[in-house]
This record gives sequence, structure tokens and C-alpha cells, in this order.
Amino acid sequence: MESMKFCPKCGQASFMPSPKSFSCEECGFTLFINAVAAVAAIIQYDDSILATVRAEDPDAGKLDLPGGFVDHGETAEQALRRELEEELNLKEIMPSYFGTYPNIYPYGSVTYHTLDLIFTVKLRTMPDITPADDVASIKWIKKSHLEIQQFAFSSIRAALSEFTKTA
Ligand SMILES: [Zn+2]
Repeated sequence: MESMKFCPKCGQASFMPSPKSFSCEECGFTLFINAVAAVAAIIQYDDSILATVRAEDPDAGKLDLPGGFVDHGETAEQALRRELEEELNLKEIMPSYFGTYPNIYPYGSVTYHTLDLIFTVKLRTMPDITPADDVASIKWIKKSHLEIQQFAFSSIRAALSEFTKTA
């Protein structure tokens, strides 16, 4: 969080970081750096789950679960439906809550802290998927063949580890 040196309100080089905020010693302005909400889906069909291959950094080329950040005013379910339609052209899904996992997401020169809300989605038919947006391609992986360390983020690895034990 050293990337912000100057107070955005008064412009003085007195913007002091603490773990969860910046405070200006000159004018008292405070900027909170709270955890950002993100969603991801463990999509199941038969005995396989859907993994995406990341098109963009961080960790381009690594495996991920489909999902993304929650926009202002959105519910987690709306964000999940929007992301699955944008990334996979997957519509009319029925998500079930699975759990939440904290993550660290470096982007540009800023390290973002996220709280990833994980949902499971069971499909009855093999969907017609068109990868788009920040998804390069998709892979269906049998649950028994999941190699969790191939996934990009610690939150996703933790969720999948719990999923393979419980589901
Ligand atoms: Zn200031």
C-alpha cells in the first residue's frame, strides 16, 4: 500500500497507511481499504467441475473458477449470474451458497484484499459454453483428477480443497 503517497483531498505528502486505511496527518481525511467482495462458482456436471484458464494477469494461463468482483448495489447472486453470462454465456443457473474465503489480489501496483463468496452450481445437461471476457478457455476436470495447486488463488484452492472433501 505504498503506492499512495499524497492525500487526495489536500495534496500533501502526509497520507499515512495503516493496515486497513490511509489517514492524512494534515487535513484528517481518511480512506478505508476494506476487503472487496468477489464471487466464484464451482460448476458441476456429472462427476466433473468446470475450470477456466485465465486470459489476463494476475496469473494468466493458470486455472481459475468463473466469477469476478461484485459491483456496487449488486447481490452476490446477481454478480455471479452476470459474470457467468459474460465469461461463459451460461444463463439461468441456480447457485447454492458454499462458503467464503479471503484472498489477496495484486493488480497494478496495488494489493487488493478480497472476500471470495463461493457458490456451487449443478448442471443437468452439458451446457453450450462460449468463453469470453477474461477467460481464455475452459476445461472439464473429473473431481477425482483435480490438481488443486494448478489453481491461481489461495481462496479458490481452499474452497476446492473443502469441496472435494465434502461434496
Ligand atoms: Zn489531506
